[in-house]
Amino acid sequence: EPIELATFINQVIEPYSEIAQLDDKQFTTNLAATGTVMFDRQRIHQLLVILLDNALKYTEPGQAISLETSIKNKQLIIAVNDTGRGISDEGKKHVFDRFYREDKSGSRATGGTGLGLSIAQWIVDIHKGKIVVEDFKPQGTTFRISLPIK
Ligand code: ATP
Repeated sequence: EPIELATFINQVIEPYSEIAQLDDKQFTTNLAATGTVMFDRQRIHQLLVILLDNALKYTEPGQAISLETSIKNKQLIIAVNDTGRGISDEGKKHVFDRFYREDKSGSRATGGTGLGLSIAQWIVDIHKGKIVVEDFKPQGTTFRISLPIK
């Protein structure tokens, strides 16, 4: 399905920027990717929802979330950054596993099944893309997706 990137991304993030505002979290975007791509709209929407839900869930008021898009070497790059509590090196090895949740204090209180990121990984796989998790410096987490553009 042809997706006009700027319109699509803005639709997806609209409710999140509102929730962020209510939670006193700064939500910013840098949407450099423009044009039309052929993706499964519902699944890419779900992918972004998983990452944005987590970014909100694992940040506190006063912290920040940002979403960046760009196009490089015929790949759409989407990065979701947050300045939240971050993920341990051990956790980074497992976050895409089914039912994995970091067992830190606060983790249980935030709820969740630990399925979100395994579904995200699956959606990226069926688009023949890649998803990686990195530290966001000086504090927080980045999830970076690359999706080949046909
Ligand atoms: P749900 O299935 O509702 O998404 P979940 O958030 O526990 O529940 P995942 O989305 O798969 O499940 O995330 C797995 C684990 O990775 C989380 O429990 C959390 O420990 C960690 N995690 C994911 N995103 C972040 C983030 N942005 N910052 C810190 N930790 C994160």
